This record gives sequence, C-alpha cells and structure tokens, in this order.
Amino acid sequence: SPSALTDLDQHDRVPAAPSNGVHLPNGHLSTTVLNGHARTAFLLDRNLHKSFPVVERGSGSYLYLKDGRVIFDATSGAAVSCLGHGNKRVFKAISAILSTGIPYLASTFWACEVVEELCKKLIDGTGGKMARVYLTGSGSEAMEAAIKLARQVFYENDPATRRVNFITREGSYHGNTIGALAMSGHPVRRAPYEPFLMDNVHHVSACNAYRQRADGESDSSFVARKATELEAKFQELGPETVIGFVAEPVVGAALGCVPSVPGYLKAMRDVCHKHGALFILDEVMSGMGRCGTLHAWQNEDVVPDLQTVGKGLGGGYQPVAAVFISSRVVNTLLNGSGQFVHGQTYQGMPVQAAAALEVQRIVEEENLVGNVKRQGLYLEKCLRSRLADHPNVGDIRGRGLFWGLEFVKDKATKEPFDPRLGVAQRVHDTAISAPFNMTMYPGTGTVDGFRGDHVILAPAYNVTEEDIEHIAQVTSNVVHQVFRKLG
Ligand code: PLP
Repeated sequence: SPSALTDLDQHDRVPAAPSNGVHLPNGHLSTTVLNGHARTAFLLDRNLHKSFPVVERGSGSYLYLKDGRVIFDATSGAAVSCLGHGNKRVFKAISAILSTGIPYLASTFWACEVVEELCKKLIDGTGGKMARVYLTGSGSEAMEAAIKLARQVFYENDPATRRVNFITREGSYHGNTIGALAMSGHPVRRAPYEPFLMDNVHHVSACNAYRQRADGESDSSFVARKATELEAKFQELGPETVIGFVAEPVVGAALGCVPSVPGYLKAMRDVCHKHGALFILDEVMSGMGRCGTLHAWQNEDVVPDLQTVGKGLGGGYQPVAAVFISSRVVNTLLNGSGQFVHGQTYQGMPVQAAAALEVQRIVEEENLVGNVKRQGLYLEKCLRSRLADHPNVGDIRGRGLFWGLEFVKDKATKEPFDPRLGVAQRVHDTAISAPFNMTMYPGTGTVDGFRGDHVILAPAYNVTEEDIEHIAQVTSNVVHQVFRKLG
C-alpha cells in the first residue's frame, strides 16, 4: 500500500548519497548496485546508497565479517561455492600446480595433464553421452562459445546456410556479454543494451507451472502446449533458418529456481530435432550437481547437443566454466574444417583445471550429489512446513539444493508487489542483518520481467540436516518479519 511504502521509505533511508553507485573501501565499483540501478526507473534509491558488509574470511558454510558477525552462506554466493569456503584440499591442488610454474599455458600450443584429466573426468560424468569439453573462464564465455559452435555446425556443411536464428525463452538469463545477453529473456538486464543485441534471437514463453499452468491442467497437456508454441515459432521463422533452441532446465536468476515440468525437455528436444536444429541447455547455474544429479538433464535423461556449465564446476576456487559438446557436433567439425574458429587467452589454464578437477573429485568421493538430493528433499519439506501457508509466499519451487520462494501481494490472484517496495531486496537485507545473519539471493522481474520478487536458496552440497533446519527456520523468521513490517 502507498502508506506502507512511504513509511518504509523513511525508515530505511540512508543519508549519504554518492551519485554514481557504491564505492567499496578499495574503490571497486559494485556491479550489483549498478544492476540494481538499471533495474527500474523508480527503484528505491536507498539501494544505491548503502555500503556492503566487509568479509574477512570464509570456512565451510560460514563467512566471517569484519564487524565480528558470522554469516551462514545459504546461497553459496551466487550458487557457486558448492563445497563451501576454505576447502584445504582444493587449495593444496592449486598450490601444487602453481609450484610447477605453469598456472597458465597457451592452450593452443600445449597440452597439460591436469587439463586432460579434468576433461576426461567431465566426459565420464556424462556417461559418455557427450564427446568433448571446451573450457572457458566464465558462464557467459561458455554461452558465447556455444552460440558460435552452434552456428559453425551448419556453416561447416554449407557456408551459405540460412540457419541464422536462435529460439530462447522469456524469463531466462544466459550471461551478460553481448551474445549471451541477446540470448537472455531478461528485460531489465537487456534494456540499456537493446540496440547492440542480435535481432536473430527469438523468444518463446518459459515453462513456469506456477504462473502459466491452468487449474487442473496435467503435465502432459501443459507440455504439449509448450511444444506447440515452439513448433509455431519454428514455422514462423522458417524451420530451415533455426540454429537451435536454448533453455535452462531449472531457471535460475531470472525466475528463481523454476524447474521444467516433467516431459518438457524431451518435447522441446523432439521439436528441435524434427527440424534438424540443435537442442542446447544452459546449466551454468543448475548443473554440476546443484539439482541432485550431476547434470540437470540426467534427471530425465534428455541429452542436449550442447550444454554449458559454470558455477559448480570450480566451486568458486577458480574462474572456470565449460561447454559440453555432443558427438553430433564434434563429428560435423571433425569432418569439416576440423577447427572451432574461436578461442580466448584465459581458457584451459592448468590452475583453473587443477581447481575444478579437485572440486569434482571431492564431489564424487564424498557422494555430494547424493547429499544434494537427500538434503534437497528435506529442505523442501522444511520450507513447505514453515512457509506454504504464509499469505505472501506464492510459490516454493526448485530441485536439489536449488530452491526459490516467490512473493506475492495476493495469494489468490498471484498479484505481485509494487516494485517500488523492493520486496526481494528487503528480504535479502533483513536476512543478512543481525540476528538472522544468513544469505538469501534476491531477484526481481519474476512475473513479466519487471514486476515480481523471489529469493533463491542454494547452500553448499555438503550441508547437514541441522544446516537445513537452520536455513528453513531463518528463512521463515525473515519472511515473517519482512511481511509483518509491510503490513
Ligand atoms: N547462464 C546462467 C544460467 C547463469 O545463471 C549465469 C550466471 O548467473 C550465466 C549463464 C553467466 O555466467 P557468468 O556470470 O559466469 O558469466
């Protein structure tokens, strides 16, 4: 309500106001705040004025702040630190490769055992269903590589190929570099750069059961509607012009852990393959164990032609991401030019590979994907028992240790809050403050790209039952406090 807005505005306003974002003590300009600034023309300006708590060290699921507080990291940063912080084994593996004197090698000239070993391990993890791995330094770079690889598949066979179009989805995020952003259905992140974004990317709707499924509609009928929509988009563009379709199996930042409905991935893949187009999955956030299977597609065994991974690959110990490449794509290249016309300086670095390899060994040896599945089911249960009846919690959804809460003003109509209230940000701000001291990853635009609020929970893969109970209890306490205040 307007009165609640005015009230909170005054209560939360912070006086000092640098005009161009927040300068942290070291002078680093916060991109998060800049994202916030770009979010809506009328976002509460208080978000631009605050300073961030300073973190001094991390251990396991805990972050230790300069002000003496200890924070439970229930989000692994941005769903990255899958082993938690301060893992000694990974540090040792990094030190070992540093002591060889080759943290960096030109990957176009040299091979390195640790890089080969990582790629072999990654291929093995797909059960041999993917043929090669292409290492990059970030999820966005992995998406850029996937976009170019996909195009090259058709170019190899016919340099005059008419395949120039991609189909991606509304309510998606594939990265912030220009190509990856063009693929993203994220209006707020796109808006300032719209004139730079390729106009050969076309969107279909997301697969969002909470917002789009009719009352009583079965999975199969919902999926059939989505397949019909994708087919119609192929027909509109001309099936012979489509390179591929790109989707996140569980949508992360754009919607807040929205899993695809059972049968959806297969139906989408079938439409793509019917038209000779590629089926591409972006698992940068949802992959590498996060959703309770090593790859999110393994949940339904729908193998993509290309797949990107990132965050959980190196667990935040090094900047490392990758593209998994199917034999269909590899063979086209091998039978053609034999080259992928791409490459960047900082890829396939021994130090990146050593970190990722050790993270993946630990994930395997400690059966952490199994723990993700087990603790994920428990987290679901704990969240539902505490929050399913809350009048402002519209939806609790997710998979594995990747859970989202969507907040609504009215549960019956699913009407979102006024964006000026900054609800998701308030939940985050409250959560990281005393006495709660826990991270929750906020997101907006959940409903139509501009309105709607959610938060993501994505703790480390090695959390215990007690950790899960703590996360659920703190989440519940925070939610109750924030909405009590909103009135
Ligand atoms: N794809 C998805 C699904 C993501 O969630 C992200 C990052 O959040 C990216 C791509 C981009 O990855 P990065 O931030 O490492 O460039």
